[in-house]
Amino acid sequence: MADTIPAASDAECNIKVVCRVRPLNSSEEKAGSKFVLKFPTDDSISCGGKVFVFDKVLKPNVTQEHVYTVAAKPIVADVLGGYNGTIFAYGQTSSGKTHTMEGVLQNEYMAGIIPRIVNDIFNYIYGMDENLEFHIKVSYFEIYMDKIRDLLDITKTNLAVHEDKNRVPFVKGCTERFVSSPEEVMETIDDGKANRHVAVTNMNEHSSRSHSVFLIHVKQENIETEKKLHGKLYLVDLAGSEKVSKTGAEGAVLDEAKNINKSLSALGNVISALADGNKSHVPYRDSKLTRILQESLGGNARTTMIICCSPASYNESETKSTLLFGQRAK
Ligand code: ADP
Ligand code: MG
Repeated sequence: MADTIPAASDAECNIKVVCRVRPLNSSEEKAGSKFVLKFPTDDSISCGGKVFVFDKVLKPNVTQEHVYTVAAKPIVADVLGGYNGTIFAYGQTSSGKTHTMEGVLQNEYMAGIIPRIVNDIFNYIYGMDENLEFHIKVSYFEIYMDKIRDLLDITKTNLAVHEDKNRVPFVKGCTERFVSSPEEVMETIDDGKANRHVAVTNMNEHSSRSHSVFLIHVKQENIETEKKLHGKLYLVDLAGSEKVSKTGAEGAVLDEAKNINKSLSALGNVISALADGNKSHVPYRDSKLTRILQESLGGNARTTMIICCSPASYNESETKSTLLFGQRAK
């Protein structure tokens, strides 16, 4: 696989939007829900009478491998070439974000983007000449109610964002684990997930209300020429984008909903400013997530946004909002 990774792509348009539609599930079928989306062409999708065009539209039958090839593989090559990147999954709860980003970790067919990236990075390294020395470290944290919690150390529940000497924001004090094989990365992810389970009572609900961020940092040095390259790749499974009805929700649930809304719209505003080429006025500082991602979105960085959609009739209005969010990046 290593030799198929091309050199860093020239990034004319650094933000790519891929739309993925999951299949109707059996309970939706049983309940008589209809598949309401249409695919006029390979790069368009129609919902509620409106057509949306993206870089790619992935229909329900595509394989996890195909999603990886389209949405992630080019960025992996760039990160190995010393660029930063971000891949994030956006969509309402149960639209397929976690399936897309993680899938079933150690399963050849069902593995999502993260395990495939990890395998490709190590395959690349194993195939490189001996003059190159690689150091790979990973971090895993979540952002919930604007607080950053380290998933690799549960004692760290409210980490701060600082800037390094080059004014690049980073999460201060967040655990960094050096890893030397794909298996070690998978163990790290499992540890993080186990910690997350310990910290919350209902994992499914919780994961839909927090952003989870997996960071892979690749450093390489040519020991002959001393040339160094650094690439950081952020892999983000965003909180569910569904609207919570203001009348139904109260107290903590309403606070959570407002908070998610605020951070997702901050992300939307940043992406939209970058897509418009409005480089002097990108509102990175409006949320912790966008601050952390600052050097990995826009500029020289590569970004892919995966818009996850449910095809079911009862989700139609949420799906339409999701597609509109994706459209802002174009
Ligand atoms: P989210 O993370 O957006 O809340 P999930 O990824 O957990 O949603 O998906 C919800 C359910 O649908 C899971 O059981 C998942 O396995 C299934 N699912 C999602 N996308 C697909 C897909 N493309 N093909 C098959 N099953 C899927
Ligand atoms: Mg999820």
